[in-house]
Amino acid sequence: MSTPLTLRELSCADDYDPNSMPVDRARQYIGTFLTPVTATERVHVRAALGRVLAEDILSPIAVPGHDNSAMDGYAVRFDDLRADAAVTLKVTGTSFAGKPVAHTLQPGAAVRIMTGGVMPVGADTVVMQEVATKGEGTVTIPPLADAKIRARGINTRKAGEDLTVGSVALQRGWRVNPAELGLIASLGINEVTVYRKLRVAFFSTGDELRSLGQQLGAGEIYDSNRYTLYGMLTRLGCEIIDMGVIVDEPAAVEAAFATAAGIADAVITSGGVSVGEADYIKAVLEKLGEVLFWKIAMKPGRPLAYGKLGASHFFGLPGNPVSVVVTFYQFVREALLTLSGQTRLPPLPTFKATLRSPIKKAPGRTEFQRGMFVQDADGGCSVTVTGDQGSGILSSMSQANCFIILGPTTGNVQAGDLVEVQMFEGLV
Ligand code: AMP
Ligand code: MG
Repeated sequence: MSTPLTLRELSCADDYDPNSMPVDRARQYIGTFLTPVTATERVHVRAALGRVLAEDILSPIAVPGHDNSAMDGYAVRFDDLRADAAVTLKVTGTSFAGKPVAHTLQPGAAVRIMTGGVMPVGADTVVMQEVATKGEGTVTIPPLADAKIRARGINTRKAGEDLTVGSVALQRGWRVNPAELGLIASLGINEVTVYRKLRVAFFSTGDELRSLGQQLGAGEIYDSNRYTLYGMLTRLGCEIIDMGVIVDEPAAVEAAFATAAGIADAVITSGGVSVGEADYIKAVLEKLGEVLFWKIAMKPGRPLAYGKLGASHFFGLPGNPVSVVVTFYQFVREALLTLSGQTRLPPLPTFKATLRSPIKKAPGRTEFQRGMFVQDADGGCSVTVTGDQGSGILSSMSQANCFIILGPTTGNVQAGDLVEVQMFEGLV
């Protein structure tokens, strides 16, 4: 993390323009204020899925624990093999995975061995069964080149080649995904220390919003943002506190802020940041906490408030349903992962694809169009814009699987141009 600034110091910086904040700068500024959770808990290995490790996991054992075979074949002494002639060896036993042979391999002998079988003492190389010829209590191995033996040790796995005793298997700050779960189990560890879950409170603002189960009056709409936020936050592994809909009245917004700040590490609101007449988020945040308010040079998602409410981090997202998703993915996701203690932050998968239809765009801001990315028959990638791109039109998001990101210097783009796409889903 870069040098911590106070919100006040930041707003005095020379190139700081709150009315046209580039996407990257806003992300970077938010990053300087984030203080990850420190409280931890012990959990059973399965319950660690999706959690962030609060300790380095050291390997208590070597993995693998023994030299063993990587193939089904014959364990031999390399020195018994010949470059210029076949050799016939006496087969003195079989080493199955988990059932090693007890004896030391003598010169002139071989042991039948299965994948994962422990190498007998004295054996250093495995000849794969496909090149060997089985006899009556013997096996004949062709000359080295024909046996595909380039060197001593071939087709074997060495004890500790994955992990040596005491080495760091997983680092503090890593999220536990399925591979990490398996790795922890492979070390014989059944409990790990993880950071407590990040508590995130959220509410929607707007007199026009009704919750599910209520009747819609004239001009009213159902609150969808709380559901999108519920989905995105749940996927990130946060503990969520849904505070419902708050009406556009300063006293109501103020009370909701005070409650949220008292119970959550992060507070997310949607709506009420567009500085219209009924938009109180900024004013209340200024009164109760510290605020950075930006007009981000992006579309959709222009107004964004970030600040501190006591110890909690505040994200004031715009009200338009598509803007909520865009600003969440571009600013909030990474911030919440950092606050959760995660130090390895895989970015959303981003790559280039061929645009199938033209897009009109003015330079000066970053645009996030919703796109459908497909793999072409020739193995290349192409992308098409989905539906109407209005920032209130959630179906364009739902039909899409990626953002088409057009940077600030980009103008109109033509069919056939290469554009940057960023997948919605990926490795959190
Ligand atoms: P605002 O940012 O409050 O001016 O809202 C911008 C637009 O988004 C308006 O059309 C609102 O009705 C709509 N909107 C705000 N909040 C929500 C919500 N929670 N669910 C659906 N639409 C919303
Ligand atoms: Mg509103």
